[in-house]
Amino acid sequence: MQNKKIGVIGLGMMGVPMTNNLLQANFQVKGFDINPQAQEKINANGNFEWVNSPKEIAQTCQIIILILPDSQIIDQLLWGNSQDGIASHFQRDTLIIDMSSSRPTNSKINAERLQSLGFGFIDAPVSGGVKRAIDGSLAIMIGGDEHHIQPVMPIFQALGKTIVHVGSAGAGHAVKALNNYVSAAGLLAVSEALVAAEKFGINPHLANQVFNASSGKNNTTEVKVENFMLSKTFNSGFAIALMRKDIQTAKDFILEMQSHGSFAQLCFDEWQDAEKSLSKGADHTAMFAYIKDKS
Ligand code: NAD
Repeated sequence: MQNKKIGVIGLGMMGVPMTNNLLQANFQVKGFDINPQAQEKINANGNFEWVNSPKEIAQTCQIIILILPDSQIIDQLLWGNSQDGIASHFQRDTLIIDMSSSRPTNSKINAERLQSLGFGFIDAPVSGGVKRAIDGSLAIMIGGDEHHIQPVMPIFQALGKTIVHVGSAGAGHAVKALNNYVSAAGLLAVSEALVAAEKFGINPHLANQVFNASSGKNNTTEVKVENFMLSKTFNSGFAIALMRKDIQTAKDFILEMQSHGSFAQLCFDEWQDAEKSLSKGADHTAMFAYIKDKS
């Protein structure tokens, strides 16, 4: 396993620290990103090689990690418009590990299509944000077959602390999207609550202190309110466009599974409006500023 070269495609906010942790764990890594400046942030020891095309990764790495923005980009990369996708250049027994937050239905189809060509697919999206990507303590939720997952467990152990096999291909991506929907609903509720508290003359720091000691406690109250929202830094490292995409994925999945989805729809509409109204590239924690402006 340690001798196999790992290809990483997507060296952004998450891909860079994840690659650095793979290198730290002595894996040999080849990396590619459409932005060549991305390589500058890699702590390149002798084990890292930058390549100039994803095709080169396909031709030389049997384990390929994708940590890219969305399913549209991943499907295009794998299959291209005709024969120009990287899947037509894979070596025998190549395993794709999609660690992006992709759409579960696309991932299920990709797994089936790759399997019919003799390749493997695991979806292994992550949670915990940039901070936990840096310190190697991500939560990783995995979908796929056990015989593909077990051999690459050392990769997941280098990147995360909580590693859970949740089901067949696509299941990891489903759980990831559902998790982010729950998280987004919490951030939106906390934003509305804090703005109302402040308008009444309550110190929002004190209100949040009470939430954290009470049943309203959630990841937003514990991690985001002081660090990124009340401080007005809005720099958690997770873009609002990516959060909106995840809520959209969750909402579509909830409706497709015929679960009652009226709140998911409302939540999605609000995040979509916020994304449109905030500046391009805004952080998802700027939802608080959006709610404040609207109030
Ligand atoms: P990012 O935008 O910082 O990075 C994505 C990278 O992909 C960029 O460097 C971009 O240049 C590159 N890219 C885009 N299209 C490409 C292509 N066709 N070929 C090669 N490279 C390409 O995004 P991120 O925050 O690192 O997120 C990556 C994935 O992880 C997303 O699916 C996101 O939803 C998920 N995620 C992000 C966080 C977070 O806190 N940032 C947390 C959990 C999960």
